[in-house]
Amino acid sequence: MITVEAPNIQKIENPNLKEPEPEHCPGPESEDAGKGDACDGCANQEICESLPKGPDPDMNLINERLKDIKHKVLVLSGKGGVGKTTFTTMLSWALAADEDLEIGAMDLDICGPSLPRMLGAKGESVHASNSGWTPVYVNDNLGMMSIGFMLPEDDSAIVWRGAKKNGLIKQFLKDVDWGKLDYLVIDTPPGTSDEHISVNTYLKESGIDGALVVTTPQEVALLDVRKEIDFCRKANIKILGLVENMSGFVCPGCKNESMIFKPTTGGGKALCEELGIPFLGAVPLDPRIGKACDDGESFLDLYPDSPASTAILDVVDALIESIES
Ligand code: SF4
Repeated sequence: MITVEAPNIQKIENPNLKEPEPEHCPGPESEDAGKGDACDGCANQEICESLPKGPDPDMNLINERLKDIKHKVLVLSGKGGVGKTTFTTMLSWALAADEDLEIGAMDLDICGPSLPRMLGAKGESVHASNSGWTPVYVNDNLGMMSIGFMLPEDDSAIVWRGAKKNGLIKQFLKDVDWGKLDYLVIDTPPGTSDEHISVNTYLKESGIDGALVVTTPQEVALLDVRKEIDFCRKANIKILGLVENMSGFVCPGCKNESMIFKPTTGGGKALCEELGIPFLGAVPLDPRIGKACDDGESFLDLYPDSPASTAILDVVDALIESIES
């Protein structure tokens, strides 16, 4: 029998990096990070070059901008296609159903900015004034801001590299005039990409409440969620809880539910028990959700009797409880 020794896998101590720092590393936060001879050939070079160096003066501006926002919630997913933006949309509508609350929804998914369409703000343009960029209000107490507003055409692909993407993210956080909000829901890029890391780095200091993690039940999605949770732990971001999306299928005709993605390893609930994080609930797929999001309408208002609406509202209640605990 041939025995293959497992490679010596070094742990990544810095959550911003995709590979461990080599022995000769000058430090990812140092002025020379990503540039000098010591960095030649290092897999982190592009990331390090675009990371904020030393005390970043823009951090104070970002913190100042966000200081009147009571609660900031990041919506994360380990991979794309699990319904993260759809859930961000539902969460925003659900929170805004309380007329006494002021809600903001920020779309930082710069490679797939679909929040304007889903919240019914497609085609709007951003108004800039002396006090910054004004969010687009989709109803009296729900404002939103997205990179989507900056794109010239619907089918434009964002092909910028790290530093330019990070610059825009910073601009968003620095210049949008949110005013006083009770909740800011932030849709982030999926996975642990460069811009995802920047979002978390820039927001962490401003006092985010934590992250809501969205997954689907099948193992391939749960594997990526484990990485996302590991990232949050390394970056000291509190995990407010996990929601299992597309957890079954609701027939719009007979209202019966059936499983489409089989949870071969126990799904999100078992993962939460194993990792000691709150399980906020499971939301079944109702095909009318996609239509409501395409039309920019609130699924919760259109179909309050759907089991999916009940499940979403239960998740939102559990999330608020987790924020306030
Ligand atoms: S690019 Fe340079 S600073 Fe960044 S991890 Fe590599 S060696 Fe360290």
